[in-house]
Amino acid sequence: MSSSSPHQGEPILGIDLGTTNSLVGVVDSGFPILLADADGQRLTPSAVLFPAVEGDPIVVGREALRARAAQPGRVITSSKRLIGRRVGEGAETDSSFATSGEVGQPVQIDLGNRSVFPEDVAAEILRHLKTVAEERIESSVSKAVVTVPAYFNDAQRNATKRAGEKAGLEVVRIVNEPTAAALAYGLDRLDDRSRVAVYDLGGGTFDISVLELSDGVFKVEATHGDTSLGGDDIDHALAGWLWDQAGETTRWSEAPAEVAVRFIQAAESVKVALSESEEHEVRMPFYRPDASFEVTVTREQLEQVARPIVDRTRRPCAMVLADAGIEASDLDAVVLVGGSTRMPLVRKLVEEIFGRLPDISQHPDEAVALGAVIQGGILSGTLQQMVLLDVTPLSLGIETFGGLMNVILPRNTTIPAKAGEMFTNAVAGQRDMAIHILQGEREIAGDNWTLGQVDVPFTPGPKGSARVGVQFAIDENGILEVLCRNTDTNEDHILEIRDSAVDVEDEKVEAMISESVEHAFDDMGERIWTEARLKAEELLPAVDQALAAVGDRMTECESKAIRDTAAAVREQLDATSHDANALKAVVADLDAATQDLAVILVEKAMEDAGD
Ligand code: ADP
Ligand code: MG
Repeated sequence: MSSSSPHQGEPILGIDLGTTNSLVGVVDSGFPILLADADGQRLTPSAVLFPAVEGDPIVVGREALRARAAQPGRVITSSKRLIGRRVGEGAETDSSFATSGEVGQPVQIDLGNRSVFPEDVAAEILRHLKTVAEERIESSVSKAVVTVPAYFNDAQRNATKRAGEKAGLEVVRIVNEPTAAALAYGLDRLDDRSRVAVYDLGGGTFDISVLELSDGVFKVEATHGDTSLGGDDIDHALAGWLWDQAGETTRWSEAPAEVAVRFIQAAESVKVALSESEEHEVRMPFYRPDASFEVTVTREQLEQVARPIVDRTRRPCAMVLADAGIEASDLDAVVLVGGSTRMPLVRKLVEEIFGRLPDISQHPDEAVALGAVIQGGILSGTLQQMVLLDVTPLSLGIETFGGLMNVILPRNTTIPAKAGEMFTNAVAGQRDMAIHILQGEREIAGDNWTLGQVDVPFTPGPKGSARVGVQFAIDENGILEVLCRNTDTNEDHILEIRDSAVDVEDEKVEAMISESVEHAFDDMGERIWTEARLKAEELLPAVDQALAAVGDRMTECESKAIRDTAAAVREQLDATSHDANALKAVVADLDAATQDLAVILVEKAMEDAGD
């Protein structure tokens, strides 16, 4: 677990290095948080401006995007498509800028007077995010967890790692984006062996993955997608539609670059607005010196344009289910992430494809980054407390009469949790009941750890007359409250146990569990023995009394059989062999014999009454 982590104590950044947008975060005071830049923005466009004059500052993010209209060829976006790719693999045709390089060599991005590798672009983005983080948390960082698409091959993953190194960040773990999203979605919502699909529609890529959670670890079972399908395509299609609406007679594909950029920006902002409202007005004053344009776009119009694009996510979804060998109904959740899943049209389509309402609990832009932060927190040990607090590391219970452990909250119960049980006095005339609170996995109370004790007084009475309700409530901070209520008087006795219920060192938990496994047979035997002994101690005097009471209603032969059984029980109780199963067997015989006795006693009572 985290205690053996080599990264203990150092902050580890979590980074979503997206095609369109990137984010950075860190675990701070036990909480995973995403960090905002000086403008208060958490989302950094994955855009880099390489200035014409080498040596001038490189600009990253929103500022670089703003410079795009003025220097279109120098602002690199979507470079993630090219990272770790070689010339001839076909990736270059995917990009919106000039590339170069010899076949079989890494793809290079042409900047006119020079060229850069896609990983250099990624390095600039990572360097920027590192600076944002260092300014926010006011300390330097040197390590990061970075997410990549599940389908990234080794070369793409290694190039991502190298980009981190160039930016002064050791990439301590590469995490698949859907895995990160699933981590953010939360293990605590899932049972072991849950299956979730993560539907991620971003700016330029679509990914659909099926993950299975087992033993607390997510495994990507299958993944599909389309590396050139996303919100950008919708922007382009809508920009073309707007172009026609503006009465332009030339073809959209022939629009001059600077004008096209403005139409695309306008299209994106209408699209975003129409995720919230039903209609939105577009204004494009003087997009050419002699042309201005205004139009109101409805959501329905957008959906008509976007539908064929969004529909292209159907096929990968069908394929991922086929690859995972499951039906849509086998999924426990379909989690939406990626900025484009904010579109109502996308949500409708996902519902159609999977036959269920998609889970929109995650922040579409932030889930992947949040998962990376959580992973970083686990690796650095800063999230350890939270992880441990999530479930009870060991069972919690009380000692029962006879010295056995009675589990009330089993090990691995997700907290907060509440559970209770009713207990009665085991012997007549008892004046109080000592509720002994235990933690551990052993059957015998004394082998577990004591957390505390509550004494509940009650009026002496026959066996079973007093009733005490015991309730264990453990809150999200790991504080255990034990409430014992005398149900006759409604008097409550409360004991609060801080931390100790959950704050147990990993090694001690492991030792306790392995001991309980080692001693499982002995412990089980001891439990059976104790339970049989308690039963015997209850039955034996009852049998003696009953035999005296039935008198001659029973043949000598019958009563002898019962007396022999009782003797056999006494013999087993005294035997040094301590054979739990033998005792249990004779106690069962005695129990059966007393049933017969009880019937005879009832008959006798009725006859006596009739006399
Ligand atoms: P990536 O993972 O590719 O970096 P993101 O998940 O950040 O991408 O998604 C970016 C895309 O989401 C862009 O195409 C953007 O236009 C789109 N988007 C963001 N917000 C909205 C919204 N409210 N409605 C529709 N699309 C949106
Ligand atoms: Mg993304």
